[in-house]
Amino acid sequence: MRKCSICDFSSQKKIYTQKFSIIGKKKAFIYDVVICLKCGFVFASNIPSQKNYEKFYKENTKYSFVDAEKEVPQAVKESNEYYYLLTETFLRNNFKRKRRDLRILDAGCGSGYLLSIFKKHGYKRLMGIDPSPSCRILAKKLYGVDVKTFLISEFKDKKKFDLIILSNVLEHIEDLRNNLLYIASFLKEKGFLFISVPDGDNFGKVMREPFLEFSLEHINYFTITSLTNLCKKFGLDKRHYESRKMETFGAYTSNSFWQKNGNKIGQKITYDKSGEEKIRKYIFYSNKKQEKIKKIISTLIQSSEELVIWGVGSLTSRLLANTNLINANIKFFVDSNKAYQGKKIIGYKILSPENLKNTKHTVLIASYVHSVGIRKTLENNLGYKGKIINLN
Ligand SMILES: [Zn+2]
Repeated sequence: MRKCSICDFSSQKKIYTQKFSIIGKKKAFIYDVVICLKCGFVFASNIPSQKNYEKFYKENTKYSFVDAEKEVPQAVKESNEYYYLLTETFLRNNFKRKRRDLRILDAGCGSGYLLSIFKKHGYKRLMGIDPSPSCRILAKKLYGVDVKTFLISEFKDKKKFDLIILSNVLEHIEDLRNNLLYIASFLKEKGFLFISVPDGDNFGKVMREPFLEFSLEHINYFTITSLTNLCKKFGLDKRHYESRKMETFGAYTSNSFWQKNGNKIGQKITYDKSGEEKIRKYIFYSNKKQEKIKKIISTLIQSSEELVIWGVGSLTSRLLANTNLINANIKFFVDSNKAYQGKKIIGYKILSPENLKNTKHTVLIASYVHSVGIRKTLENNLGYKGKIINLN
């Protein structure tokens, strides 16, 4: 069992069990979504240890754009340009002296795209850290920005920072208390922390992909109340907060700035009353949407038509574990990500989409975000004449 990572309490209430079928693994990966009975924080419990996750992030290249020739994905562009503008406005309002000279750390920076925007606008003292070594290499090669290979918990530096950025980081971390306490120790007194996380107050407000928010890697589901509880513990005062819809994903992010105030460490927290209600609503609407997908799958099983599934990402890993998709007449899987090709999922081969040429299987597009692009590739590039099924 995982204790509440905000208040350290061990009594919790289970509200959902999430399952995944993972590439190369026989057993399904399972965690429980629970609510802390003391502070109301919603999080994933009974997960693998932090060590397993750390190994995963060191080896995982999903957050670096391995193919350097490839365009930065639209979702990454959209969110990072927004983070930059928000931060720039905030800094302009809070620093009288030249803000271009502020010392800024992006902790969990991927291949340094956000830092590259700061650099383009004249910021000079920039540093990034990321656990994956390929991020350091790419950041140098693509943008000439300084990225060091560190987990947050291993970071070392002699000087402190005026601003530390944690964008899309805290939702991944098992031990929130120690990681936040540690990274905040690198902030100057009265320095600022920028936090961006998926917005638990608005989960499923636009319901595209059911249970998307309970992903393999996301194990903390923050509302602004629970995030405030966490930050208060470490003397971080809220200075600005806004929720924003990211068009590419159709999901909301919670974006906030906090100021370090060493005198206020250990403030009392308040029970998050709305967290449970919001998450239960999200589960209800996700189930409703998943029922529609189950109907499509039932039809495929009944017809026993030969099926190829395009996409082995998080949606597929959830559908395989939570529906009876496995009973369909699956021939193989395809994915355009070369890192997956040649591997296996639930015993089936993952091939390159080229393998669909001259076949007449039914293709199930197991992606919402990329469904239009995949259909185009099938019809235009591969000249595919077989049946194509979308989930939306
Ligand atoms: Zn708690």
